[in-house]
Amino acid sequence: MQRTKIAELLRTERVGTEVLVKGWVKAFRNNQFIALNDGSTPNNLQIVVDFEHMDAALLDRIKYGAAIGARGTLIESQGKGQKVEVKAAEIIVYGDCNPEEFPLQPKKQSLEFLREHAHLRFRTNTFAAIFRTRHALAYAIHKFFNDRGFYYQHTPIITASDAEGAGEMFRVTTLPLDGAPRTEAGEIDFSLDFFKRSTHLTVSGQLEAELAALALGEVYTFGPTFRAENSNTTRHLAEFWMVEPEVAFNDLNDNMNLAEDMLQYVIQYALEHCADDLKILEDRLTEEEKSKPQDQRSEMTLTEKLRFVIDNEFIRLTYTEAIDILKNSAPNKKGKFQYPVEGWGTDLQSEHERYLVEKHFKKPVILTNYPAEIKAFYMRQDEPKEGVPGATVSAMDILFPGIGEIVGGSQREERYDRLVRRMGEMHIPTEELYWYLDTRRFGSCPHAGFGLGFERLVLFVTGMTNIRDVIAFPRYPGNAEF
Ligand code: ATP
Ligand code: MN
Repeated sequence: MQRTKIAELLRTERVGTEVLVKGWVKAFRNNQFIALNDGSTPNNLQIVVDFEHMDAALLDRIKYGAAIGARGTLIESQGKGQKVEVKAAEIIVYGDCNPEEFPLQPKKQSLEFLREHAHLRFRTNTFAAIFRTRHALAYAIHKFFNDRGFYYQHTPIITASDAEGAGEMFRVTTLPLDGAPRTEAGEIDFSLDFFKRSTHLTVSGQLEAELAALALGEVYTFGPTFRAENSNTTRHLAEFWMVEPEVAFNDLNDNMNLAEDMLQYVIQYALEHCADDLKILEDRLTEEEKSKPQDQRSEMTLTEKLRFVIDNEFIRLTYTEAIDILKNSAPNKKGKFQYPVEGWGTDLQSEHERYLVEKHFKKPVILTNYPAEIKAFYMRQDEPKEGVPGATVSAMDILFPGIGEIVGGSQREERYDRLVRRMGEMHIPTEELYWYLDTRRFGSCPHAGFGLGFERLVLFVTGMTNIRDVIAFPRYPGNAEF
């Protein structure tokens, strides 16, 4: 007999038919009612067993966490809380689960505890909801780009260019750690390494995506990226997934429109397709908020926050305007910022970004035209502008409530001479990046793109507060378990 998934059964409610379901026991009440979940939906299916006519030894194996199958008739439920249930004719135990040894308990367990048991946390309602939602968001991203004619490109994970400066890199090598071969000058002899040169894990697929965009027009990447930055925060991972669209003939404004459309589209998609999971996550968040002092609680529920992002246009303003607001803000004047905002030119800290989004505008914000000094070499140089004290580039960062930066992007410098001059100023080796510069020598054109940190998006949509809870097996300083 064919197994039916619980999601399908609950949707079609084919009362009177014989069914076989398989899943994990979520609860077993009164030796009679099993709550069964198979992952296809957050909703459990109730299995009613006739305990008086069932083998006592088998009955005893129906424990929280055990994998079982149930064959029986789908009937209208007598009880409250569900429309249909299965009247079991047969129970099969596939895998026992000894409650004395199983680390998970059928009660609320802390996120910290579950992080230490990340191999089992999929089994909890919260994490099952997170990972179903994560899938839906990934699919929505592909759908968004595919439906607009973008081509999905796979850029290398091992890279020889360490020039980009997006972050500290992890080295990739086959050379022995002790006694690595040395050159006569005493340096490590990478000519004996696998690739005959020094290589690293990529921090971004952007440079390669640009090459593709200058032929295919509209492309995007969606892959793992790695940063060995020692930032032990709730928003940084050492291994994270980045979505990087790159579009020929787009300028900064087109780039912002694309990013805003994409974010609103995927959030709308989640609201439409993950309602049951978002309900679980919303209830979790509401519960968590209750433990906070009144004045720190969010005024909005999770779905209200998501709707809010869809229903409101993002505020767009320049870095220079933002600095003005921050300089004159109450927390800055009262010395409440950990990093006081002194003047034009400094990089914005997360506390500043969050002030702008959560307190000042109360909307997602796109900041543009940052000082060239604090941005990457490939960003397009702006013309000098009245009232702007220094050189700026056509950069844009999108800031979200509770997250800070979720997207970072720019129009790229397409003018060969300008690009080479900037690389010189920033000590970026032009010989190593000859292939990148070639795009500016042969048929260069204006183009723009951005990077969306996928886990930061998942963080926002699920209402979780620690990025380590939205990727199954997080990598961060001191942790590469599982
Ligand atoms: P931040 O200032 O928050 O460290 P960044 O300026 O280093 O971010 P970019 O290099 O512009 O970020 O990367 C593009 C996007 O990738 C960011 O907007 C963010 O969403 C995401 N991102 C960057 N670093 C990380 C990280 N360590 N873990 C998870 N996501 C990240
Ligand atoms: Mn960073």
